[in-house]
Amino acid sequence: MKPVGLIARWKDRLPVTAKTPIVTLGEGNTPLVRADRVAQAVGLPPGGVHLKLEGLNPTGSFKDRGMTLAVSKAKEQGATGVLCASTGNTSASAAAYAARAGLRCVVFLPAGKVAAGKLSQAVMHGAEIVEVTGNFDQALAMAMEAAKKKGFALVNSSNPFRIEGQKTGAFEIVEQLGRAPDNHFMPVGNAGNITAYWKGYKEIGRAPRMFGWQAAGAAPLVLGHPVKNPQTVATAIRIGNPVSWKTAIDARDESGGEIGKVTDAEILAAYRFLAHEEGVFCEPASAAPVAGLFKLAKAGRVPKGVAVCVLTGHGLKDPGTTERFRPKIRRVKAGGAVRL
Ligand SMILES: *Cc1c(COP(=O)(O)O)cnc(C)c1O
Repeated sequence: MKPVGLIARWKDRLPVTAKTPIVTLGEGNTPLVRADRVAQAVGLPPGGVHLKLEGLNPTGSFKDRGMTLAVSKAKEQGATGVLCASTGNTSASAAAYAARAGLRCVVFLPAGKVAAGKLSQAVMHGAEIVEVTGNFDQALAMAMEAAKKKGFALVNSSNPFRIEGQKTGAFEIVEQLGRAPDNHFMPVGNAGNITAYWKGYKEIGRAPRMFGWQAAGAAPLVLGHPVKNPQTVATAIRIGNPVSWKTAIDARDESGGEIGKVTDAEILAAYRFLAHEEGVFCEPASAAPVAGLFKLAKAGRVPKGVAVCVLTGHGLKDPGTTERFRPKIRRVKAGGAVRL
């Protein structure tokens, strides 16, 4: 059988040896699809916008790219378990890879702020769940403390193996596009992923402008100071004090890019547009970069060239948010007449 997963695919560029026990679910190699309706809406030519569908990873988000490596290395180093704080997707991914590796998994979640699909994954993969009555930043501080005490591997994006695994997204985009994009758009929460993509591009000698997007109610990198009570419908980026703050700013400045903010209304409009007009269902946080592109279009500032937007997680993760868009649904008796 052909080796599967991104460690097998990119092992020459990753910190693994023949002795590393590879824990994989076949992550990576996600589709890059054209978004000509988005392109048209923002005044770019056909082929001017592509979407990287990271929601098609095994647990439905890009977190799997980092988790395959972080859990493999935890196993190699003899950890008895893995531990993380999470807005949802990290816990879903950690729980799945830990289950596969036969390791304990403990997750610290901000109570009441995790989308239903993500929580159901942590439950079914057998994670030990701790709900923190507080926000993600507070849960992360507790997770860091607990990991130190228990000798568990912390698999948040402060774990360098997470960044290493996630940088492979940049390799794939360049391979799939046949060149580097001119402009790279992505959501920014804890800022590990923008750090990872920029590292990946640099390692293969590419330098798209990096455009990161935060939610207006959780935009510390835009404001220049931490946000005490971050608020947004895009729960995956509801983070007030990003761990990878400095490297995100470096990515912005070295690439000549920007980190901007979009309101929840702008995020939800892009979320709906992608589903309605492109047939692509992502979770709200993943729509932030497309909302950013629309925002730049309104201001007449869309950068020239090819843009890739990373859609970080699948729409099915967060069924709750779709309730806002529920149309009038007709109910008829079986066999009854339906006027269409
Ligand atoms: C984790 C996550 C993000 C934010 O990524 P960071 O590395 O924390 O900036 C964005 N979207 C989704 C769907 C996520 O799960």
